[in-house]
Amino acid sequence: MAKLYFHYATMNAGKTTMLLQASYNYRERGMTTMLFVAGHYRMGDTGLISSRIGLEAEAEMFRDGDDLFARVAEHHQHTAVHCIFVDEAQFLEEKQVWQLARIADRLNIPVMCYGLRTDFQGKLFPGSRALLAIADDLREVRTICRCGRKATMVVRLGPDGKVARQGEQVAIGKDVYVSLCRRHWEEEMGRAAPDDFIGFVSG
Ligand SMILES: [Zn+2]
Repeated sequence: MAKLYFHYATMNAGKTTMLLQASYNYRERGMTTMLFVAGHYRMGDTGLISSRIGLEAEAEMFRDGDDLFARVAEHHQHTAVHCIFVDEAQFLEEKQVWQLARIADRLNIPVMCYGLRTDFQGKLFPGSRALLAIADDLREVRTICRCGRKATMVVRLGPDGKVARQGEQVAIGKDVYVSLCRRHWEEEMGRAAPDDFIGFVSG
């Protein structure tokens, strides 16, 4: 049976590059893939998934209230779909994660979701919470902190270059994200004394 996968990581871990490469591998073999990306902060019906190393592909948008099972089932009726890819999966609604599970279970199409596990305050995103709960296969995409330890957390730098400690879960605009290990994240968030602070983010 097809499975529902969740590849999760912090920012800048190369998730989108992995997604585009995996989709390309299917298409290279003559198979059809459907790509989705969050439309919450984009206009129009089609979007572009692009990675930092220059790969890109067109994708459909998903927004709150969309029925992803219905959309895929309808497409699958006239063109057989071999794999579904979802970028920015942290923005899925819980019920949309269940729709994706149903695509795997009832249409027998594998669904590969890629997204962030937690926000800058260390809280799960709604889509990630549901995926961690019900995905068949969880895969961590690794990236490292400035200290060399595995980065599992992310801080957000505001326009002033300072670490944001409060605010909305998602900020649109010029904010920059930096991936850190949990220890350095706690220091940057002011939750732990910087006993080995090596000065980088808030300097
Ligand atoms: Zn660190």
